Amino acid sequence: MREVIIIGSGPAGLTAALYTARANLKPLLIEGLESGGQLMLTTDVENYPGFRDGILGPALITEMRAQAERFGTEIVRGDVTALDLQGPLLRVATSGGGAYETRALILATGASARLLGLESERALMGHGVSTCATCDGYFFRGKPIVVVGGGDSAMEEATFLTKFASEVTVVHRRDAFRASKIMQDKARANPKISFELDTVVDEVKDVGQGVVTGVVLRNVKTGAVRELAVDGVFIAIGHTPNTKLVAGQVDLDANGYIVPVRGTATNVPGVFACGDVQDHVYRQAITAAGSGCMAAIDAERYLESLPAENAAAVETAAAGR
Ligand code: NAP
Repeated sequence: MREVIIIGSGPAGLTAALYTARANLKPLLIEGLESGGQLMLTTDVENYPGFRDGILGPALITEMRAQAERFGTEIVRGDVTALDLQGPLLRVATSGGGAYETRALILATGASARLLGLESERALMGHGVSTCATCDGYFFRGKPIVVVGGGDSAMEEATFLTKFASEVTVVHRRDAFRASKIMQDKARANPKISFELDTVVDEVKDVGQGVVTGVVLRNVKTGAVRELAVDGVFIAIGHTPNTKLVAGQVDLDANGYIVPVRGTATNVPGVFACGDVQDHVYRQAITAAGSGCMAAIDAERYLESLPAENAAAVETAAAGR
């Protein structure tokens, strides 16, 4: 029986852990399968305040984790396999056979950037392959790059990246875009952007140097294959929020993101959400961390607000199990 359980170990979860630990709530944090979250796929992070010279994504996570542990956060490995949010006690089962009960639950399970599924894409992630233009655009000043995708994200990222890149080639698998007309028009009007339609990326090349040097493009209609020399590949084919476990229990929007009802509180009493699992707009480490802080404060206030008799009933129920 815990006061607070946090699921997810990216900046949102670790910040929620730090704050609830410092509020003496002795949080238990369950890491999830992708320990550390999306920052573990990043190299230099130059936009997280407090690090004048930047910091590597995994090093930032190591620091956050150590800080949360310093104040008493207990971190357990493993993935959550089932959640029962009927209440008043919330129940959490993990892949390692763990079964926990808690009065407050903070969901910080993030969203996974969709990837093309190429081996070379995975190998060069953070070394020229990126899923975040805001984070990494700055590293491609004066260099040619490719943006993959045909939705609003691809159009937005391509347009944003022209601030840095010498030229941006948008590679899309069909000849019609999913993006809204206004975003398409903006991209089409930009002289630095060109389009490769009906085209897929078959491979990301690095000529043995460990950094991106080009892509192999294949036209799906003609079968023609050609190599394009670029320094960066931005994958902008959407994100999948990690909400499978709470579907049917917590309110989700049409794209599967959690919809908080007040602050970070969800429709389920005692359940809070922070980070990318509830944010498809900003998706930054700093905004995730900020919302982790908010969720911790909301959870703390929720626990304080439980009437004494409810809290006692919860304790009795817990003791009887
Ligand atoms: P999206 O709308 O789902 O578009 C994903 C794009 O990636 C599609 O063009 C899709 O191709 C392509 N794609 C998917 N899987 C692929 C694969 N394996 N290989 C190659 N291409 C693949 O995702 P999104 O662009 O991230 O947008 C998500 C939501 O956020 C949308 O509702 C969007 O309107 C919204 N959004 C809004 C703004 C804004 O208004 N400022 C900015 C960004 C996002 P197909 O078209 O062939 O399926």
